[in-house]
Amino acid sequence: MLSRRTMIASTAGLATAAAGPAVAQAPTTAATPPASVAQAPGFYRYKVGDIEITAVHDGFANRPLDGLIRNAEIGDVRKAMAEAFLPETTLPITFTTLVVRSGGKTIVIDTGNGDVGAPTTGRMAANFRAAGFDPASVDTVIISHFHGDHINGLRLKDGTAVFPKAEVKVPEAEWAYWMDDAKMSAAPEAMKGAFAGVRRVFGPMAKDVARYEPGKEVAPGITAVAAAGHTPGHTAFAIASGGKTFMLVSDITNHPALFVRNPNWAAVFDMDAEMARQTRVRILDMAAADRVQVGFYHAPFPATGHILKDGPGFRFVPVQWSPAV
Ligand SMILES: [Zn+2]
Repeated sequence: MLSRRTMIASTAGLATAAAGPAVAQAPTTAATPPASVAQAPGFYRYKVGDIEITAVHDGFANRPLDGLIRNAEIGDVRKAMAEAFLPETTLPITFTTLVVRSGGKTIVIDTGNGDVGAPTTGRMAANFRAAGFDPASVDTVIISHFHGDHINGLRLKDGTAVFPKAEVKVPEAEWAYWMDDAKMSAAPEAMKGAFAGVRRVFGPMAKDVARYEPGKEVAPGITAVAAAGHTPGHTAFAIASGGKTFMLVSDITNHPALFVRNPNWAAVFDMDAEMARQTRVRILDMAAADRVQVGFYHAPFPATGHILKDGPGFRFVPVQWSPAV
């Protein structure tokens, strides 16, 4: 018969074995929570042809449902949340950045909340290292749009550039809008912080930032796709290799349970609601018709799957977790 001590020892052994190599690479700072309450580091790898993609989790932030959607009754929003087994008062918004290995380059697409967001965010840096990447080895950082949850991870609060050797590429239309001082002065008070955030991140590197137009290849195999509406220069990306195409839809929707199901719903974050709606429907329609794999910034981790047409809206079907990359 097993003694209690043996039981505990063997259980601990099992836990270590099951946790696998990801845990061995995890940062071992004093702040790391005990294994019993922490998830494994949040990264997940998959391939598009010869291109390797690693989804890297940046945490989550709770957003009250009230006021989240401009053109839907709160009762209908709660019903959509309940149908997805999500909380009925707050939406846990998740953040997923991508690391793309393509043509011998390491490319980061969007950078998370950095060290200036909610305490439940800013996990990108630790998860990125846990996935085996070094910030100093990043060749290119591509930004989809200038909202803080996508750009703040570029620069620490103390001013340090997080990816010191990377070329930073941003949409031309985002730069033109957010870096325009006249637009900042004319903006409503509630948006002033967003303008200030853009200047905090890009101000010190302004002369080195490369600006791209939609339709252009921004890195090997990665093409910028026009997807304005959420913001003036909001961009999606087509990633193609070996006859396969993957569509990173960025923020054409927030949580799929709300906005893929109900593509006409306008999130309060969409700066031009009607343009955002048209972009959302166009890209979801294309993804459903072509049956391409898609990636989101604000879908449940690892934030990738497929889109099906379903009634008046669409349905998001997550990929099945695969042990093989
Ligand atoms: Zn976002």
